Amino acid sequence: MYQLKKAGFEGYLVGGSVRDLLLGRKPKDFDIVTNAHPEQVRDLFRKRCILIGRRFRLAHVRFGGEIIEVATFRGLGDALDDGDRVTVDGRIVRDNVYGTSIAEDVWRRDFSINGLYYSIADFSVTDFAGGMADLDARTLRLIGDPEMRYREDAVRTLRAARFAAKLDFRIHPDTEAPIREFGKLLEAVPPARLFDEVLKLFQGGHALASFRVLRHYGLFDQLFPATASVFAEPESDFFLTLLERALANTDARIAEGKPVTPSFLFAALLWGPMQQLAKRYQVRGMSPIPALEAASREVVNEQVKHVMLPRRFTVMTKEIWALQPRLVRNVRRRPKQTVRHPRFRAAYDFLVLRAEAGEKEVKDIAKWWTDFQENNKPVHEVPAKKSGQARRHFGKKK
Ligand code: ATP
Ligand code: MG
Repeated sequence: MYQLKKAGFEGYLVGGSVRDLLLGRKPKDFDIVTNAHPEQVRDLFRKRCILIGRRFRLAHVRFGGEIIEVATFRGLGDALDDGDRVTVDGRIVRDNVYGTSIAEDVWRRDFSINGLYYSIADFSVTDFAGGMADLDARTLRLIGDPEMRYREDAVRTLRAARFAAKLDFRIHPDTEAPIREFGKLLEAVPPARLFDEVLKLFQGGHALASFRVLRHYGLFDQLFPATASVFAEPESDFFLTLLERALANTDARIAEGKPVTPSFLFAALLWGPMQQLAKRYQVRGMSPIPALEAASREVVNEQVKHVMLPRRFTVMTKEIWALQPRLVRNVRRRPKQTVRHPRFRAAYDFLVLRAEAGEKEVKDIAKWWTDFQENNKPVHEVPAKKSGQARRHFGKKK
């Protein structure tokens, strides 16, 4: 912001960081808005800056270890469909009409609490949309006419669910009422964009709460239709328990700063439909392993039509599943070989998840693998006096 100012531009902190700071929370990232155009931002920050996005063009500026998103003021403009702003049936497919001030920019933002601007010129927060009062009242409210705003961008239904879960805010009745109906428009949102949103929903530290809000508004069905129809069946409690446990584990790992992977998340999200399809193939006479492989392929191929999952992740999701019968079969047989499989750890975690969710058949097996790893941990020996070197070996723990 100081660098923008020095170059004669305006720069404001806006969005989640202002919101979270005012709530006394630690911001996840920082978004800046400026009157400088993307190319001007790039000229200013040179090598530290890349321009991204076609639908919504903005600059990513590297600062320390972080990426700061720098967007140019959006304007209301009448320049409809001249290439800078393109709408189809009320849906904004491109929004690169630049404005000249925050007073204009604010109306393009989603929720009032995300429309607060912090300025370094006088250290003030500017609030055009009633965001301060909504923060105080812990209310999530769309700026403008809710139906129109959801029609412009159906992802806002997901954002409503995400912020309600993350902040534990109530959604204002006017903002809440159209969610279910307009959530159906998520169908037309590119799967790649929905993948980004799903990661924010399920890897943002509030996965379980987000999942429950999504289900409440029928949005989960839009994202994961096959999983949702499994949940709709009687006696599907196990799959729901498994997923909720996986999401709770994800939240715990994130709170502890441990890594998480979309592959594991999707393995849990799609385990229900995959298992059911595999079972159906077996009833038709397929053997278990080919049935699992065919079902894995089919369920993933169907899912990526809704929420894209990049190939590097689907490969691992399928490996986690494929290793499940192997972990069962290889108990006491060639276990060391199995442990060396690059996906062993993820597959083992998944087996434990199944056991915890109540699958009695795998309980003892999961425990066996836990004990096996305990007993075969690399042990650091006390350095031998002669060589003075620590030796590492795989031995039984006393
Ligand atoms: P987070 O804590 O997840 O980063 P955020 O509010 O900062 O929350 P971002 O996705 O980083 O969310 O977006 C930054 C800001 O840009 C938002 O606060 C909002 O003002 C605006 N914004 C983002 N996405 C949309 C959208 N789909 N429609 C309207 N405004 C949006
Ligand atoms: Mg942000």
